[in-house]
Amino acid sequence: MSRVFCIANQKGGVGKTTTAVNLAAGLAQVGQRVLMVDLDPQGNATMGSGVDKRILAPTVYEVLLGAAAVREAVRHSAAAGYDVLGANRELAGAEVELVALERREHRLRDALRAVHADYDFVLIDCPPSLSLLTLNGLCAAHGVIVPMQCEYFALEGLSDLVNSIKQVHANLNRDLKLIGLLRVMFDARITLQQQVSEQLKEHFGDKVFDTVIPRNVRLAEAPSYGLPGVVFDPSARGSKAFVDFAREMVARVQQF
Ligand code: ADP
Ligand code: MG
Repeated sequence: MSRVFCIANQKGGVGKTTTAVNLAAGLAQVGQRVLMVDLDPQGNATMGSGVDKRILAPTVYEVLLGAAAVREAVRHSAAAGYDVLGANRELAGAEVELVALERREHRLRDALRAVHADYDFVLIDCPPSLSLLTLNGLCAAHGVIVPMQCEYFALEGLSDLVNSIKQVHANLNRDLKLIGLLRVMFDARITLQQQVSEQLKEHFGDKVFDTVIPRNVRLAEAPSYGLPGVVFDPSARGSKAFVDFAREMVARVQQF
């Protein structure tokens, strides 16, 4: 049985996609079978995994609408080392089309059932919103991983997300848990970041992952080569941190 995790944060540019592709690649490197699901119409996680969104069909869009099975839509990325259920701009239309459908929040969960035996981990890269697409991600998941930058406003947005997770837990998906907060783009030289990091640990205790992802330009360069940083430059500090994070996730899952 696979464990399904949503990478979510309603803010844009906080490192969700970078986390999704590099955690996927890190998990693959430590021997896990991984499916990465791109739920963002921008398709960045798809491209960043070496799958060309422009010529991809079917995508997760057809899967959500019930027009394709997950197995038909999945592509293996040999370079990245994991499978990809990709997205492109077509997915933006799903937001409206899903509203009229039965079990509209559960479409992804229902579809993924067919492949639960094929993967150890399913990672879902969510769009920067608390939309019906993100809701599909949250309903399909056992847990949420929240990447965040240790900045002054970081804690503010967090309460909205934590409330949404509580709502989904109460009404739609009893399995859902906040697994943890992942500190990303961290720069230890900046005092404010250290302070916010300490505040996070005070408020959220062991919900804060031990691994910290540093700000590292190699992680930002990798997508233009269609590769996760972990594959593009395994020796980079950011890449090593993501492999450490993959190990931390494997250990956490064993505690479930
Ligand atoms: P989101 O998916 O939340 O919008 P992204 O993962 O696309 O965020 O990250 C936003 C930008 O920050 C991208 O340009 C990405 O390459 C860059 N980035 C993300 N994580 C890091 C990091 N640890 N170090 C340096 N740049 C990063
Ligand atoms: Mg993204």
